[in-house]
Amino acid sequence: MKPYVVYTPDYDIHFGGLEKLHPFDTRKYSRAYEEARKRLGAALAQATLIPPGQVSDDDLRLVHTREYLESLKSVQVLVQALEFPPLALFPYGMIEQHLLRPMRLATMGTLMAARAALHHRLLLNLSGGYHHASASKGEGFTIFSDIALAIIKLRREGLLAEHDGVLIIDLDAHQGNGYARIFRDDATITIFDMYNGSIYPMDGYARKRINYDLPLPPGCADQQYLLTLKAELPRALEAAQAKLAFYVAGTDIYERDMLGGLRVTEEAIFDRDSYVLNRLAEADIPFVMLPAGGYSADSYRFIARTLCYLFERWGG
Ligand SMILES: [Zn+2]
Repeated sequence: MKPYVVYTPDYDIHFGGLEKLHPFDTRKYSRAYEEARKRLGAALAQATLIPPGQVSDDDLRLVHTREYLESLKSVQVLVQALEFPPLALFPYGMIEQHLLRPMRLATMGTLMAARAALHHRLLLNLSGGYHHASASKGEGFTIFSDIALAIIKLRREGLLAEHDGVLIIDLDAHQGNGYARIFRDDATITIFDMYNGSIYPMDGYARKRINYDLPLPPGCADQQYLLTLKAELPRALEAAQAKLAFYVAGTDIYERDMLGGLRVTEEAIFDRDSYVLNRLAEADIPFVMLPAGGYSADSYRFIARTLCYLFERWGG
């Protein structure tokens, strides 16, 4: 059991400064990595896996429809999925290079992390957790369903059997509707989702698929948040019989996040993360942690803190 992080500086999105107009901190990946490196030093570099390239078109077709992948050649489709009208001013080639490429790298990173987790058990991909993208639609800043792709690909490779259980613990402030739609009829996937029930996506169809459906009231603060998590997660861990888990660790539950609508403090975010990681390790379930959403300038620090914890707790 040893922690590894999957990361490349190419996860960052640079768009000639324009990216600053989007709520997303598009450099939180390198910021988190550099922040963690200050504390972990060479130990971090030694345990860093670099995605070998972008996810292939063939692999994307395992999850997404041909029509949808074809539609991504339209800037208008991307503008809608990423909720970013200024994109329409740019040539497609630039958008592909500076926006789709980092997302395809992150999708490969999640797949790589999932493979590695089956050996090393404790994996963190520093980008990804695109939990709104479904088979035929990108939305909510997400284009590719990295989690679904990793699960389906691992089954194809025989690394997971068809009947092996997979647990998705989604603690991003938003409901994880994309993979829930993709795995609508797949009972081997257990979904545990705690989210602000009063904000996007409010996807009632996907919601029916959640096994542990825990909508939170807007403004939910530390105590209620952590009590709910700690009361419910142990049951899910026990029942899921999981061979692999994905932890969608969105930091947009933060009290100063501009989109999450919850009131969770920095300390409670760390409490949440360390709690989930310890329960997964105790249950002996290999996991991949993914940063998902987080729309405050502090988000990268929270990710770095949990990354350091992972290494200091289990890196020994
Ligand atoms: Zn979110």
